[in-house]
Amino acid sequence: MRPLIAGNWKMHGSLTEAASLAEAVQAGAGGAAELLVCPPFPYLVPVAGKLSGGAVALGGQDCHAAAKGAHTGDVAAPMLRDVGARYVILGHSERRANHAETDAAVRAKAEAALAAGLVPIVCVGESEAERLAAQAEPVVTGQLDGSLPDGFAAAGGVVAYEPVWAIGTGRTPTEAEIAAIHAAIRANLKTRFGAAGGGLRILYGGSVKPANAKAILALPDVDGALVGGASLVAADFLAIAAGV
Ligand code: PEP
Repeated sequence: MRPLIAGNWKMHGSLTEAASLAEAVQAGAGGAAELLVCPPFPYLVPVAGKLSGGAVALGGQDCHAAAKGAHTGDVAAPMLRDVGARYVILGHSERRANHAETDAAVRAKAEAALAAGLVPIVCVGESEAERLAAQAEPVVTGQLDGSLPDGFAAAGGVVAYEPVWAIGTGRTPTEAEIAAIHAAIRANLKTRFGAAGGGLRILYGGSVKPANAKAILALPDVDGALVGGASLVAADFLAIAAGV
């Protein structure tokens, strides 16, 4: 399957910076990996204007579970689709922590994404305390069971394994630890979705940078990366993608 290298720009940058970052990513696209950028909501339209020819996909960082309505400050999945997004990141640990998003809430959002024709990228991952207590695998598979909607596989949904303690810290699990969790995720997807679960992409996220990307991306069942900090520097993001 074609690896996916996704950039989560979070709440960073200005309009000018978003536009020039998008331009630079677009200029460097064309390798083996599919590239995706997920800018803050106000920058989706101007970034879309910098992406041509479908070489770099556009995604949102969240959506509401409802298709429309009285939800001040929220953004609906059809709105993301309307401005050219193909993907939406859901259940990122920062949303789970800062907005008290439960697995059920993430699942409802993923259902809304599917209904709008968006591919959900559902994030799962254990805290450091959970890893130290040898609970990483049951935590992650529990999150999958609760967060993935039934239509996930048919729509080519993406899972991102992001250990919370590795996000933005410069720390990563060992390669063996990443491979073990990705194998558990793959087994969970196959059990739930049958053969289709074998074809879904599982991304690793958490302090991916050019120096460690190649080794991580070579691991079994690592089908791409979700990149935070390093996606804000086009050369780094493209170097990570070159490692597939
Ligand atoms: C993320 O927040 O999705 C992420 C992986 O961040 P970073 O690459 O900065 O650790």
